[in-house]
Amino acid sequence: MSKYETDIVVIAGGPAGLSAAVQAAEDGAKVILVEKSETVGGAANMGMGPLGIGTKYQQQQMHDITLEKAFRMMMEYTHYNIDGRLVKRYFEQSAETIEWLEGMGVEFEGAYKYFTKSEPTWHIVKTDQGIGARAASFMNRALYNKALELGVQVLLETPAKKILMEDGEVVGVRAADKDGNEFDIACRAAVIATGGAGANPEMIKEETGYIWGKDMFNFAIPGNVGDGIKMAWEAGGDHVPVRVEQAASNILGMGLPRAAGAMMNQPNLLVNYFGLRFMDEEQVQNRTYLSNAVSHQKDRTGFMIIDSSIARYYMKNGIDFVSLVDPEADVSEFGEAAKIAKEDPSLGLFVADSIEELAQMTGIDEENLVQTVEDYNHFCETYDAEFFKRREYMRPLVKAPYYACKIMPGGYGTVGGIRINENCEVCDSDFYPIPGLYAAGADACNLYDDSYMFLLPGNSMGWAVNSGRIAGMEAAALIQDLNE
Ligand SMILES: Cc1cc2nc3c(=O)[nH]c(=O)nc-3n(C[C@H](O)[C@H](O)[C@H](O)COP(=O)(O)OP(=O)(O)OC[C@H]3O[C@@H](n4cnc5c(N)ncnc54)[C@H](O)[C@@H]3O)c2cc1C
Repeated sequence: MSKYETDIVVIAGGPAGLSAAVQAAEDGAKVILVEKSETVGGAANMGMGPLGIGTKYQQQQMHDITLEKAFRMMMEYTHYNIDGRLVKRYFEQSAETIEWLEGMGVEFEGAYKYFTKSEPTWHIVKTDQGIGARAASFMNRALYNKALELGVQVLLETPAKKILMEDGEVVGVRAADKDGNEFDIACRAAVIATGGAGANPEMIKEETGYIWGKDMFNFAIPGNVGDGIKMAWEAGGDHVPVRVEQAASNILGMGLPRAAGAMMNQPNLLVNYFGLRFMDEEQVQNRTYLSNAVSHQKDRTGFMIIDSSIARYYMKNGIDFVSLVDPEADVSEFGEAAKIAKEDPSLGLFVADSIEELAQMTGIDEENLVQTVEDYNHFCETYDAEFFKRREYMRPLVKAPYYACKIMPGGYGTVGGIRINENCEVCDSDFYPIPGLYAAGADACNLYDDSYMFLLPGNSMGWAVNSGRIAGMEAAALIQDLNE
């Protein structure tokens, strides 16, 4: 016997689920949203904002990022290994989505690049504390308030367990209350948006081969363990690859001041265990490229190395690459970080009095490292004949102490797993939609395989909000059809 009855059940309250719920309710459907945790917003509470293309902010700031340019970039970046119809619909809707969010009280700082080579598609949410991490929690709050205002019934601490099917169609969702008591919600459509499997090491290993905590250090949001992906597969949805949304991670302990991370994210000497360089270090700004590049090295490890003259230069003049995620990072505290690290080498910042000692501490091949530093210092005076790094980022390593930290693959979580079409309908292995079943957000983000499209930043949250809206409007249209 069902305890609840509604038109649409939205499974989860991250930006994808919240957007689906608001859109479906705006379009006249009765909606219940079930969320596993005690709060809404999901991983996006840590982020800063969604992608928009052709927005008024870009026009005001005189940026020429058009729908056509962004579409071509995305298709070429992914080698057309992607559903072009879905990308087109998502990008085309994205500017109006920024206004849709503004309509519920979200304000934006403007349209930003993530790094020099990227396009200004990242619409950073305005907060009462300036630009910085967690800004998007303000967007989630506005979406949540709008959902409540529209009459969406939100059940927190209520994980969904199963999609209930009859004759191949969705007839309900099984969920559990906070004491684990299961109950059914009768409905005619369900939207799955449970944010991927970033906190599920077994699934990550099975699907990608990476071992969490050994060669993969993605953000693991508690609760994002692949529930929705498994529910969709169980209901007949096709299994497409689940990928880690790559973004490299500096392996530094929490006990170090933030200055350490900012200092070791700059375009300086990067080597592998063999003591050999493997890329133009200017590209470390694109954390996806960096994650992929270190994945190709022994033990999927790179080492960023600086000397004390570089550290001093940054402490005096500021760093080369300031991240908007941490615009206030004060590298003048690096001396303090080095002191702490020297006492506790387990924190991951290696401090040594010579290149030879640094090699012994880190396990990098000593002879090669000495040679690499010598060559690199020579390139600093001439030209980077090895990887063509621009001269402005060539700073020699000449003065002890020397510092190093490991860089390994990481990511924002997982992306993909559920096959969908341009209407965000979940499809079976013959590509036919399963009546009443929709998916959005990270669970259905089959957009860029594992290589996050950082050249168009905001792509992940932009996808979540826009695919949520598409799923919500399509589910509401289905309900309307069924009622006619
Ligand atoms: C540190 C960080 C910063 C980021 N910054 C940005 C950024 O600035 N721009 C950008 O584009 N992207 C950013 N991202 C990525 C972005 O946050 C995600 O792509 C986005 O949150 C995905 O939205 P979602 O709704 O699919 O999933 P999530 O936001 O992860 O939400 C999933 C929700 O599902 C719930 N859930 C799980 N299982 C169940 C279940 N069985 N039943 C009910 N509920 C369930 C979870 O509790 C959670 O609330 C960032 C990610 C991280 C980790």
